[in-house]
Amino acid sequence: MTTTHFTEAHEMFRKSVRDFIEKEIRPNIEQWEEDELFPRWVFERAGELGIFAAHYPEEHGGAGGDYWYSIAKAQELPRTGAGGLPMALMVQSDMATPVVSDLGTPEQIELFLKPALRGEKIAALGVSEPGCGSDVAAMRTWARKEGDDYVINGSKTFITNGTRADFITLMLKTDPEAGHGGISIVTFPTDVKGFHVSKKLKKIGNWCSDTAELFFDDCRIPQRFLLGEEGQGFRYLMQNFQSERLIACASATAGAKLTLEEGIAYGRERVAFGKPIIKREVWQHKLVDLAIKLEAAEALTYRAADAYNTERYVDKVDVSFETTKLISMAKVFVGDVTSEVVDSVLQFHGGWGYIEDFRIARAWRDQRLFRIGGGTSEAMRYYIAKLMGL
Ligand SMILES: Cc1cc2nc3c(=O)[nH]c(=O)nc-3n(C[C@H](O)[C@H](O)[C@H](O)COP(=O)(O)OP(=O)(O)OC[C@H]3O[C@@H](n4cnc5c(N)ncnc54)[C@H](O)[C@@H]3O)c2cc1C
Repeated sequence: MTTTHFTEAHEMFRKSVRDFIEKEIRPNIEQWEEDELFPRWVFERAGELGIFAAHYPEEHGGAGGDYWYSIAKAQELPRTGAGGLPMALMVQSDMATPVVSDLGTPEQIELFLKPALRGEKIAALGVSEPGCGSDVAAMRTWARKEGDDYVINGSKTFITNGTRADFITLMLKTDPEAGHGGISIVTFPTDVKGFHVSKKLKKIGNWCSDTAELFFDDCRIPQRFLLGEEGQGFRYLMQNFQSERLIACASATAGAKLTLEEGIAYGRERVAFGKPIIKREVWQHKLVDLAIKLEAAEALTYRAADAYNTERYVDKVDVSFETTKLISMAKVFVGDVTSEVVDSVLQFHGGWGYIEDFRIARAWRDQRLFRIGGGTSEAMRYYIAKLMGL
């Protein structure tokens, strides 16, 4: 697990995340999957332990660590045994909040970011809409100006943490006629009149996290809740997407490694035609290929994370096109490799792979989201082709 990027301090942090998961999460996860929601105290406890804040600046309530803290956390979270919980926690720490840290006013930092990092307020990221996901510029949720306020109308869907978020980092159009250039981002407190959770969506997997459809009916928020400049939201979102995609790659790769380990353990015990199935050369070669591909997926993720860390934490500049390309490549490759891992390990379990008694069934369901959420594999290839000048 260790690379030169992880110091002793990172490893201590990693251990604290692992202990939290083993002692406080694992004993409950089956129940929360059944309930299709984990309790709110998990956010509070994770905040208390500094899990969300490790890689944020101290003046924003963080611990001032670099990006490798976030990678270490993301690698531990799959030990929860269900994909929904890592997803919800990473929305809180790496998807809904980076742009608030980058662009928030002192008021927005106090009102939204700091309580989110402490786990006191739940954060969501509102980009996707019923009519558009990949094509962000086609969004229709919009804000008109009235006095010092924005009045917001529209809807969002697929929003993780959406049924109980205290605030949403919300993309909308401040100029509905414009494409990319009409998009802005606001911090949206959900206790505003006219805001409704219209539906909790039922999912194939990631059951213990909530995913919601949201409705905005003349919701009024002060214009000072704008993040950065009006009309620059698409550019900010593209920056924010990089941390979202990268952290998902780190977590998915680590999760697939666990799945492969569990598959190998199963194969040692399961006997067919007089010997353990792990002794069949056809399966040995398959498992070896998967292990090689996972190493490659991890190496590409680390290369992208190194570039991201250097730009964002050392040079303190925006993520470059070159790093965006690397992160997009990692998203595609990790998606393909981890899909192959869960599908092969399920096959290796035979009929038991299809039965909920074994963790592989859930891992297979949960992993399927990876090639869709945060940018589909096809959309990633589309961006990479553009970045390669094709
Ligand atoms: C469980 C879950 C949680 C989610 N959480 C969030 C969240 O918290 N916040 C949020 O904002 N969103 C969230 N999403 C939404 C997710 O990011 C979108 O589903 C995703 O970006 C794809 O958008 P779409 O569903 O509208 O698909 P579409 O954009 O309609 O795509 C449909 C198909 O067309 C393909 N396609 C689209 N564009 C191209 C192209 N240029 N070239 C080739 N093929 C293309 C796609 O690859 C896909 O196969 C979540 C989704 C799920 C399922």
